Amino acid sequence: MPSIPASPLDPAGRPRLLFTDLDGSLLDHHGYDWSPARDCLARLKELGVPVIPVTSKTRSEVVPLRRELGIEEAPFIAENGALAGLPPAWCHARLDRGAAADGLVIRTLGVDIGLIRKRLWVWRERLGVRFTTMSEMPLDDLVAFTGLSEPQARLARLREGSEPLLWEDSDDGLARFREGLEGDGLRLVRGGRFWHVTGDCHKGSAVAWLIERFQALRGSRPQTLALGDGPNDIPMLETVDQAVVIRGCHGLAVSPKQPALYRSEATGPAGWAEGVAHWWGRADRRPGPAVRHASSDGARRETA
Ligand SMILES: [Mg+2]
Repeated sequence: MPSIPASPLDPAGRPRLLFTDLDGSLLDHHGYDWSPARDCLARLKELGVPVIPVTSKTRSEVVPLRRELGIEEAPFIAENGALAGLPPAWCHARLDRGAAADGLVIRTLGVDIGLIRKRLWVWRERLGVRFTTMSEMPLDDLVAFTGLSEPQARLARLREGSEPLLWEDSDDGLARFREGLEGDGLRLVRGGRFWHVTGDCHKGSAVAWLIERFQALRGSRPQTLALGDGPNDIPMLETVDQAVVIRGCHGLAVSPKQPALYRSEATGPAGWAEGVAHWWGRADRRPGPAVRHASSDGARRETA
């Protein structure tokens, strides 16, 4: 079994934060099983290291999942960066009011779903392109396509800030569609199963927002690790200090501009545990020297 972290702090004494994609990463791509990561997750919980899901899933899907995974004390990012869920310890006393019954404050980081849907219909008609949004798919089709149970599939359709869709047209049509959406300030990103249309936000911008929030509340810079398997994880993998690309089941290239990058041998949750052990195992690898480079959205940043 791979070694797992020995300390909540990195060798430089910084508190650790872990950001993770769910489908195909912490959860198995086919069966949504996470048992190969169970020991590692339990150890991180014992150490008090926040494990923060950063997913294309909806809030309604993530809330029960984080209970099952035992990570309710950590915040989460849903719908590819469109919204953040903050537990009390991550809330700013003045800025974050209006907690729901479960104690979570929800912050919208992108664009309202109503506007996104309106623009999707406009571009479909104007360009004459074919696609099916998740909200248009018959429930049976969604169940068959995703492997989710029927109740889970219902939760997956409760979108608040992004719309997944299946593209059924040419690459050329896709390029024109993307261009149209960009003119509206919307983004089109590739996930493991669907294309996702969101506001001007992505997993990387949401993770940067949370890191900033952590620093503001705690007064210390964390050491950050992120794990993901899909192209939509690239901005997140480029935003953190250390990253893991988990071997995917989708055949899509995932090549973040990240000098401290590890590629797992195993897929899904086994690759997840392998990646955490690689960076935070007993040997505690340090990332390389500080380098400057451009991230995918063109912003300059520094990797320690
Ligand atoms: Mg994934």
